[in-house]
Amino acid sequence: MNSCLQRYLVKPGEALDLAAHDPDDHSLFEGGKKQGKLALLELNSQLETLQELLYAQGKHRILVVLQATDTGGKDGTIRHVFEGVNPQGVRVAKFGVPSDAERSRDYLWRVHQKVPANGEMVIFNRSHYEDVLVVRVHDVVPKTVWSKRYEHINAFEKLLADEGTTIVKFFLNISKDEQAERLRERLAIPEKNWKFAKGDLEERKRWDDYRSAFQEALAKTSQPWAPWYVIPANRKWYRNLIISQILIELLESLNMSYPTAEPDLANIVIK
Ligand code: ADP
Repeated sequence: MNSCLQRYLVKPGEALDLAAHDPDDHSLFEGGKKQGKLALLELNSQLETLQELLYAQGKHRILVVLQATDTGGKDGTIRHVFEGVNPQGVRVAKFGVPSDAERSRDYLWRVHQKVPANGEMVIFNRSHYEDVLVVRVHDVVPKTVWSKRYEHINAFEKLLADEGTTIVKFFLNISKDEQAERLRERLAIPEKNWKFAKGDLEERKRWDDYRSAFQEALAKTSQPWAPWYVIPANRKWYRNLIISQILIELLESLNMSYPTAEPDLANIVIK
């Protein structure tokens, strides 16, 4: 597969037109779903090796931010892309409606507590971006408040990056029709009923508002130290392939190595 780092990158400082990003795109992989699923197994094993190295070296910190509209596939991405990694070095942090304690502090307070430590990879399932997305769409705070947050977020992520965290951010881009399909499926399949929230239908009515909020957030906060990627996500297998590939390229670029072994190991005989 060709390098994905450039293809889906939101170029820092450039305007973004989300409408120009096709959620059905699958142009970087020549095969179809079946071959795609097989290819993912190979990428899973590469990611597993790189994550082992990350953990063993204990030097770098990796932060993966996942954002999407409802039914966008955050949970499925976590399940499939990170299949096989060592749970000892990987953590998922999920951000829901803030608690009273969280609401009574600045919006980055709860986020900073969950960032990765040395050797760790942390996946944010939703994130501080909710504070310029749902909060904006629902007028939780006035524009004068949320509009300052892009600057805070850029500064916050710069701080993390300067102190040794590698940040990568994925927006899972599905179409409105695909969302309808996935909501219908959640209703029709009993084992998926638990995922259906009536509130999702209210959110769906605000589809365009969410698109505008995403578009502005991604354009204003894609930075060289914390880039956004718009991932075509109508095809789940393609979404998984691209995200895996980007993570692998990113981890490879760190040129990690195992810690130096103790001297004279070759002479040791275990009796
Ligand atoms: P998910 O939909 O990610 O699977 P949930 O069903 O638990 O998870 O939904 C989490 C909810 O929390 C979403 O509706 C989201 O909009 C909301 N949420 C997250 N962060 C904030 C925030 N900062 N302010 C208000 N609501 C938030």
